[in-house]
Amino acid sequence: MTARMTDGCISKKRAMTGAAAFLEIDLGALGRNYEKLCSMVAPALIAAVVKADAYGLGAEEVVKALLAKGCRHFFVAELAEAIRLKPLVDRGACVFVLNGLQPGNELDCALSEIIPVVNSVEQWQAWSSAARQLYRRLPAAIQFDTGMSRLGVPLEYLTSLAKACQNDQNIEVRLVMSHLASADNQGCSQNREQLSEMESIADIFAGSAFSIANSSGIFLGKAYHGDIARAGVALYGGAPTAGTTNSLEQVVSLKAAVIQTRRVPPGTKVGYGGTFVAERTMRLATIAVGYADGLPRSLSDRGAAYCDGMRLPVVGRVSMDSITIDVTALPDDRLSWGSLVELIGPHQTIDDMARDAGTISYEILTRLGHRYERQYR
Ligand SMILES: *Cc1c(COP(=O)(O)O)cnc(C)c1O
Repeated sequence: MTARMTDGCISKKRAMTGAAAFLEIDLGALGRNYEKLCSMVAPALIAAVVKADAYGLGAEEVVKALLAKGCRHFFVAELAEAIRLKPLVDRGACVFVLNGLQPGNELDCALSEIIPVVNSVEQWQAWSSAARQLYRRLPAAIQFDTGMSRLGVPLEYLTSLAKACQNDQNIEVRLVMSHLASADNQGCSQNREQLSEMESIADIFAGSAFSIANSSGIFLGKAYHGDIARAGVALYGGAPTAGTTNSLEQVVSLKAAVIQTRRVPPGTKVGYGGTFVAERTMRLATIAVGYADGLPRSLSDRGAAYCDGMRLPVVGRVSMDSITIDVTALPDDRLSWGSLVELIGPHQTIDDMARDAGTISYEILTRLGHRYERQYR
């Protein structure tokens, strides 16, 4: 399969799946990114955020690879994701649910030995009553809202909840946490403000571990590392801080096949709506990837594919199942039916594609399609 990915043509070694686009996920690079983040935060730990199918990369494969590297803490968004992953995770490793409990799913959560991130006083009470019902002491993380106004216990309840926790032997508060709103903006004063709130919370919950950093937060410095940092996008190769050089390895590469080529005279319209009109004679190639595969439609007349390091601009609109690119700059015989071009790879990172599409690398990754032939390396 590496032969197929590198020789630039499917027909040399036909895909067994019938797919015409190939997503390669480099679990070696993932492991090295994990190790790099670990060494940045040591003696604090790195927890892996594997919500949304590990940002589209495949949670099962990602979790297995990270377990092999020694990762023992995993975060997902929803209980359903946690229940699916739990059987993969050995004893001694834990799975946290960021979105917390839903009314009525406390027992499922407890019996699956999954740790909820308790986001409100009500959720805390529900978790405590589940513990009483099961005659079990249950572990919890508690998230506080230090300024993002999205999830977490509002700070006005900090003291009363801390007291309730002290008096309640049913719940073991393993972790107190918060989430940074502007961690990717190193100069933003909100980071310091949130950290300072988090430090007071950590003092009150002195017996619990504390966590505030996501990927970008790790790059804000030691003070943000706490006891455990929650890394998502940086594991998967996304740049943690906008506009700086990304020291992490790319994990994902995407190639797609040419399904047709044509030469068009000046004045020819290309694609839906005829938004692109050829000004000269051009050579076009239609590529087997479209918005149904997660390629943002906002790349219409903006994005590019690459071949031999040459930028091949998207011309016309992104269709559901294909794009058309301008290959005039390449020698005539370089690309033909069945050849592969690079969409994500050494010449175009997920951050490059995100910038052209007016979005963030997170969205590029989490939308990665399911028609691709996926290869884990
Ligand atoms: C998604 C998420 C993370 C991971 O964020 P990255 O920026 O991808 O590292 C960490 N913490 C919380 C609460 C999250 O929702």
